[in-house]
Amino acid sequence: MTEELSPLKNVQKQIKNVCEKLGLEDSIYEILKEPERVLEVSIPVKMDDGTVQTFTGYRAHHSTILGPAKGGVRFHPNVTLDEVKALSAWMTFKCGVVGIPYGGGKGGVICNPKELSRNELEKLSRGYIRAIYTMIGPDKDIPAPDVYTNAQVMAWFMDEYSLLKGYNSPGVVTGKPIRLGGSLGRAAATGNGCTFVVREAAKKIGLEINNATVAVQGCGNVGGSAARGIERLGAKVVAMSDSKGGIYNPDGLDPNAVLEYKKEKGSVLGFPGSREITNEELLQLEVDILVPAALENVITGKNAADIKAKLVVEGANGPTTLEANDILVEKGIFVVPDILANAGGVTVSYFEWVQNLMNFYWTEEEINSKLENIMTKAFEEVYDMHNKFNVNMRDAAYMVSIQRVAEAIKLRGWV
Ligand code: GLU
Repeated sequence: MTEELSPLKNVQKQIKNVCEKLGLEDSIYEILKEPERVLEVSIPVKMDDGTVQTFTGYRAHHSTILGPAKGGVRFHPNVTLDEVKALSAWMTFKCGVVGIPYGGGKGGVICNPKELSRNELEKLSRGYIRAIYTMIGPDKDIPAPDVYTNAQVMAWFMDEYSLLKGYNSPGVVTGKPIRLGGSLGRAAATGNGCTFVVREAAKKIGLEINNATVAVQGCGNVGGSAARGIERLGAKVVAMSDSKGGIYNPDGLDPNAVLEYKKEKGSVLGFPGSREITNEELLQLEVDILVPAALENVITGKNAADIKAKLVVEGANGPTTLEANDILVEKGIFVVPDILANAGGVTVSYFEWVQNLMNFYWTEEEINSKLENIMTKAFEEVYDMHNKFNVNMRDAAYMVSIQRVAEAIKLRGWV
């Protein structure tokens, strides 16, 4: 049987499985299996050479049951509607598992930002917001960064929306630069959240974190800050990677130095004292902790049997297929699923939005301690569910979340 790699089909399977485990009525699955609404847009951009190119973009609201839709916007050549829909559903369950008052949304534009000039990227970002303008707003849907979008893109999003509205509306988007109402601690939030999860999971499985070896796939916002954070716990980061490939040093890498090197040279490859490995090899290293923090579907039915880590913490969205998850669990590997492991980003997005709405700003210490409370509480709730129902951590995370969403659906009288 060929493995299902449609992210939407996978998330639908996951929802169905959990609805059954929780004994929920079929109507809950019927409501949750597809997004509430999806918009497909065509964005014309006058390029630097004078030609006009049109880019296809999407925005999906999976659910607004628990609050406004919330979720990032991805600029990537491989964006598809199927993926955006799945990512929007993951956001519903991610917000649900950490208990923040949001639904789930996601956006994407098919483009390669690495091939666009700054000017073209700005035009594309503004064009995207004009195209989805009616769908977003601080009480409706709040976009944020995702793969290959960053604080500067969020600044253009916020500016374009504010210009259309006729007044400043910082609460329409999170992940903004600090000067424009961004939150302290947002940039490192996803990685910091992953770090809290690594700490808690290591305690549960009796893994001594001091000198535990770690491989981190991906060097973007999530992988970079996760590598830094996990190293601060006392672990030894022995492998890191980016889209061009990976580096390995059994004696340990200094994540700060690797990230500096990447900033300067454009890749981690060639980092002094390291040996080059492929992204595939990185996943299969003999390490204690593996953090896939790049793209989806990297751990599949094909390579799951070769994963040797004791603990897998999913920094990326959807890095493990369902088939692979079963293989890892069967092998006794403790897998902390994406919707819990990488929820730190959206949690601090929530803090950013709250600060924007009340025009009062917190210190970085306040943000980080609130983040730590939410992440450790969510971890405990999922761990309890895992024990109580004797299910793996992925099912447990979905069970915690879907239970909350289903309760809201019933209270609102939708079923
Ligand atoms: N893109 C991030 C995620 O997938 C953050 C979303 C947000 O902050 O709204 O969780």
